[in-house]
Amino acid sequence: MRLTGGTDCRLFSLGSRFVAEPQVEVRRSKRRRQTVSAYRDGDKIVVLLPARMTRAEEKRWVADMLSRLQRSETRRRSPARESDEALIERCRELSARYLDGRAEPSSVRWVPPMRTRWASCTPSEATIRVSRRLRDVPGWVLDYVLVHELAHLLVPGHGPDFWKWVRRYPKTERAIGFLEGLSAAAQLGIGMDGDTEPQDAAGD
Ligand SMILES: [Zn+2]
Repeated sequence: MRLTGGTDCRLFSLGSRFVAEPQVEVRRSKRRRQTVSAYRDGDKIVVLLPARMTRAEEKRWVADMLSRLQRSETRRRSPARESDEALIERCRELSARYLDGRAEPSSVRWVPPMRTRWASCTPSEATIRVSRRLRDVPGWVLDYVLVHELAHLLVPGHGPDFWKWVRRYPKTERAIGFLEGLSAAAQLGIGMDGDTEPQDAAGD
């Protein structure tokens, strides 16, 4: 498991970033009479409430919506969670869809939870390892992690060329936010090296 050389990706340590709970933004709308809804916006959760609602009702609804959102996100887990074969199959699909089929890993494996990483890649051997901690995240979050690692087979470091490939996956920013929230919530301090402030490629 020890990675050598400077080209490996260690899905990074967040270190100082620490938030105990997801950030929640409550928006009240006059046009909204009955319905309450919530969605995730990066690492923030937005809850929409009718304008007339007491503080106590607000509190109850926010708690309710947070747990519903969490449940529905858990339901949307990836079929790739089932096995290493399913994982590599998903990588093939993602490579074809977002990386022009150019990323061809020699192996992709689920590995026991790593202390400080979500996943890692050794470009020289074209191998990718994914922490079992990610088995229960929504499929779109796991897809981001896989695209990230697959992109390292094309570009080893985290420079603009790397992010240009990764950003072809449209939920990249949301997934980074999700993983940061997960890391903070679990107090794991796990991350993706250098990904916390992705550099913009020119013009995108
Ligand atoms: Zn990386």
